[in-house]
Amino acid sequence: MENLQGKIVFISGASSGIGKACAEGFAQAGAHLILCARSIEKVEEIAEELKEKFQIEILTCKLDVQNKTAVNEVIDGLPSNWKKIDILINNAGLARGLEKLQQGTMDDWDAMIDTNVKGLLYLTRKIVPFMLENKVNGHVINIGSTAGIHAYPGGAVYCATKAAVKFISDGLRMDVVDKPIRVTNVQPGMVETNFSVVRFHGDQQKADNVYEGIKPLIAEDIANIVLFAASAPPHVQICEVTVTPTNQATAGIVHKEKVNLH
Ligand code: NDP
Repeated sequence: MENLQGKIVFISGASSGIGKACAEGFAQAGAHLILCARSIEKVEEIAEELKEKFQIEILTCKLDVQNKTAVNEVIDGLPSNWKKIDILINNAGLARGLEKLQQGTMDDWDAMIDTNVKGLLYLTRKIVPFMLENKVNGHVINIGSTAGIHAYPGGAVYCATKAAVKFISDGLRMDVVDKPIRVTNVQPGMVETNFSVVRFHGDQQKADNVYEGIKPLIAEDIANIVLFAASAPPHVQICEVTVTPTNQATAGIVHKEKVNLH
């Protein structure tokens, strides 16, 4: 297994859920971290805790990945020794709404497309050239979804964004095939994080119903897979991993024990 000690890992969406769990996992492995999200207070709190616990260095940045100018400024503004990023984890993402397409909210579509697709592209476009320049064994790890494999009712736009993540990952893998850069697309099924609360615009009850009657994955399950891919020897590229709870077969096929739904 490749040693992650001292590597520089950039994690988008590190304030919650899978991104936060990845930050903890890489910190424990002795990597140095650049953590970003819009909720900078949460990111700073996480960073303080991890620095103290694991004696690693952490840079934090307030960043909305939808904002192309902000992405450029944040990355350009990194101290030069921090620009030698070894691993980029494109995790920032969200689902908004579960309406039928013909009843969907256009602002929700913009948020999903601008974050899940364009934000991921902006960070990748900015950071991969640094990996090449610095001749690191680079690794881009994208958090896709089972939603990118099969659509489900009410999920057309979210599913389309995650299908885009799959094809951006596949395309990038081809574009860097002659370079020491690996590209991994991790495609989780149901993971209990803040994801559903965000999808339902803060309605905790609706979010809780999503996970009733099934034992969902937890953020650490996904972080463990990300860490496994990142710590494989440099000649081993884990292209794609799909992971679901045992009672989930595809994005839309889930077995739930009967419970009294609210
Ligand atoms: P959470 O809501 O817990 O975390 C999402 C993270 O993304 C937060 O840190 C949030 O930070 C950040 N984020 C959202 N929008 C932006 C933005 N515009 N700029 C920067 N950061 C942003 O959900 P998860 O941990 O579950 O989600 C992580 C990834 O996993 C997403 O890409 C999601 O699509 C994917 N995924 C989740 C699944 C699940 O069931 N939970 C299943 C499959 C994939 P902040 O709001 O502070 O900016």
